[in-house]
Formats: sequence, C-alpha cells, structure tokens
Amino acid sequence: MLKIGITGGIGSGKTTVCRIFELLGIPVFYADNVAKTIMQTDSQLKNEILNVFGTESYSIDGQLNRPYISSIVFKDQSQLNKLNALVHPAVFRAFDRWISEQKEVPYILKEAALLYESESYKMCDLSILVISPESTRISRIKARDHISEEEIMLRMKRQFSDEQKMKLANHILINDENRLLIPQILDLHQQFLKISRNYDH
Ligand code: ATP
Repeated sequence: MLKIGITGGIGSGKTTVCRIFELLGIPVFYADNVAKTIMQTDSQLKNEILNVFGTESYSIDGQLNRPYISSIVFKDQSQLNKLNALVHPAVFRAFDRWISEQKEVPYILKEAALLYESESYKMCDLSILVISPESTRISRIKARDHISEEEIMLRMKRQFSDEQKMKLANHILINDENRLLIPQILDLHQQFLKISRNYDH
C-alpha cells in the first residue's frame, strides 16, 4: 500500500486538505486524533502510562485525567518525551492495524502535525507539506479556536519551521487563499494514482 504522510504547521489547512482527499475516496488516518483516542482505549498503553505517571493518570472508571497529564508534560520537555515514547509506538500499532483494514484503495494518507519532528514520515513512502503564510494561519486559528496570539505562537515554536519541513517534503501544497487549492490536490491525486499503479500491494 502506498502510504503518504501529510503535515503542515498549526492552521496551515492540513485537515481541510485531507477532507478533500477523502472526497476523492482516499482514506485518511488522523494520527493526532487516534493518539488521543487510544490513550483511553489501548490497554497496553494505559498500563504503561499508569506505570510512568502514576495512578492519578486515570480515574477509577478508566477515564484519562487529561488536566493532570497536561500539567506534567507541558512544563517539562523530558516528561513530554516520556509520554511520546509511549504514545508514538501505540499509534504506529494502530496505524498498522488500520492499514490492514484498507482494501481496494490506491493509496492512503496519514495526517500528523509532527510528521517530521516525530520522524514518522520515515514510515511513509512520500510526504506532503501544506504551507500558508504565518499571518493567515494565526487569523484562522484565532477564528477557529478563540485562543490568544501568544498561545498560537507557543504552539508554533514547538513545530519545525516551514523552511526545515520543506527540505523533507516530497510535495508542497500552497494554501494561501490566493492560489486555488482543489486543482493542486487533483494534480497530486493524479500523480499518486500513477505511482500506485507501479506499486507493490
Ligand atoms: P491544526 O494544526 O490546528 O489542526 P490544520 O492545519 O489542520 O490546523 P485546518 O483545521 O484545516 O488546519 O484549518 C484551520 C482553519 O482554517 C479551519 O477553520 C479551516 O476551515 C480554515 N481554512 C483552511 N484552509 C482554508 C482556505 N483555503 N480558505 C478558507 N479557510 C480555510
């Protein structure tokens, strides 16, 4: 199965792009959403989190104590690394399971905000980077999430810059609200269909 990673900075429009690929019949694995879900549902991962972060990590009825975990990992990078070291392999396991369920599709997309930072692009055959001007991204996120510009800048600092990511990307989609997005996506889709025909299934 041809696997294509897709990423972009906060507010670049990667989810919007993925929704259009879905309309073309391409399944999308939303890695960040899956990461959130499996912290609730993957018993191996839950046990690992309990061992590392203690019994306060989950309530008696098994619900993740997100405020507790966030309070630990967002002020201490080494704790965040510890959490990622547990969550990332679990997401890879879920991705493998999901891939095995995809039948009769030419290729699939894996959307991840930290595709390059987490090195998970190495598990994909190709990658797409969605880029937009920083000012556009900030206004989109302000409108969507009603958070402050400072919070948005903080989140941006946790991600590689577009310049760093462009060095690793195979394809770039420009979502600046001047260039039309759909023709760029259709063009990529045609390229991926061609590649997938010569690909081992
Ligand atoms: P995040 O990293 O925060 O999840 P994202 O990169 O997935 O963001 P989206 O959620 O796709 O970005 O887009 C952010 C917001 O900008 C959404 O409200 C979306 O509807 C809007 N948006 C994205 N692209 C465009 C566009 N070309 N024209 C108008 N609005 C857009």
